[in-house]
Amino acid sequence: MSEKFDKPILVVVDHTGNEEQGYTLTAASEKLLKVAATLTSDSVFALALTPSPQMDALGRCGVSKVLVPDLAGRSPRVSAVVADAVKAAARVLGEPLATVMCVSNYRGREVASILGAHFKSGAAVDVTEVSIESGELLAKKNVLGGQWDTTFSIPSGLPIVAMRPGAGHANEVIEVPTPGIIPFVVNFASSTDAVELISSTEQPNEGPSLGEAEVVVCVGYGTDGDLDLPKELASRLNGALGATRVVCDEGWLDRSRQIGQTGVSVAPKLYIGVGVSGAVHHTCGIQAAQKIVAVVDDSEAPLVQMSDFAVIGDFQDILEQALQELPTE
Ligand SMILES: Cc1cc2nc3c(=O)[nH]c(=O)nc-3n(C[C@H](O)[C@H](O)[C@H](O)COP(=O)(O)OP(=O)(O)OC[C@H]3O[C@@H](n4cnc5c(N)ncnc54)[C@H](O)[C@@H]3O)c2cc1C
Repeated sequence: MSEKFDKPILVVVDHTGNEEQGYTLTAASEKLLKVAATLTSDSVFALALTPSPQMDALGRCGVSKVLVPDLAGRSPRVSAVVADAVKAAARVLGEPLATVMCVSNYRGREVASILGAHFKSGAAVDVTEVSIESGELLAKKNVLGGQWDTTFSIPSGLPIVAMRPGAGHANEVIEVPTPGIIPFVVNFASSTDAVELISSTEQPNEGPSLGEAEVVVCVGYGTDGDLDLPKELASRLNGALGATRVVCDEGWLDRSRQIGQTGVSVAPKLYIGVGVSGAVHHTCGIQAAQKIVAVVDDSEAPLVQMSDFAVIGDFQDILEQALQELPTE
């Protein structure tokens, strides 16, 4: 049996939605809570950044207490605001924590760094796997453009871990029927208000977001900008459409779709690369994908070498046949 901490873990969780329609726990937060549950024989606590967290979903993820900070009108999109809320939550809990975990996204990486400095501890970001050995937290991550897997130890203090969305191993968790809710006040540092959110506008997006999707269909230069079939495939699989850098450079898809070193990292259950060669600058962003399928006309392409399954040929022929096998609804 794998080693566990005997102290509670605090997880910063995100929701989508709004006050009117209600809030839904993100898939990345759900997965992170379940990963946290495998790491401790004690409790998992959640710090929710919305006043109306989805309590039943949090209970299903094994959360026993949900801490809800009063942000006094500040935006949880500002890293320093969230970091102050975590510091206050740790004080409110009043017991030593094993680790603080958050999702490694645009904000999570900054929050982890601020907290690492505050707690005079170590922070590991973009982590793909986490484990415990001889009481020490070990964080694995993929670095240098995907060419190296590295494992860091955070031997002392309060380790801070930002996990890539969807990454890590999770088991079945013991559900908590009615988690306790703890509202609390945060004393913000004066430096926190040095950054103020001016605007935040959700971009129109069909289907799930890249970070949340269980299936990602990524289009490469080999599609020559003919995206109808890859889009149809993504839609039938309820997946998100991703792109390589050259596809975005060509303007075939928006830059926000770019996966890789200078784009986003994804961790879907299934990644399908269509006309993608698999350059290391791209594949470093798909290291946490559970299954990789390559649809490409070059059997020597690096993506083929790292794939679980490859179909070699013209992508149009292959996708047409694949779509005939998939239900339309
Ligand atoms: C500093 C730096 C950062 C970078 N960051 C990123 C990044 O974040 N993300 C990223 O993606 N790239 C990034 N790049 C670029 C990266 O190195 C590659 O150039 C890029 O990923 C290649 O994209 P591609 O696979 O779409 O194109 P190609 O490498 O041109 O591959 C196209 C593939 O499609 C195949 N093909 C052609 N026609 C067909 C067909 N009809 N049917 C099936 N297959 C076909 C070809 O044989 C080929 O294998 C970066 C580069 C640098 C230097």
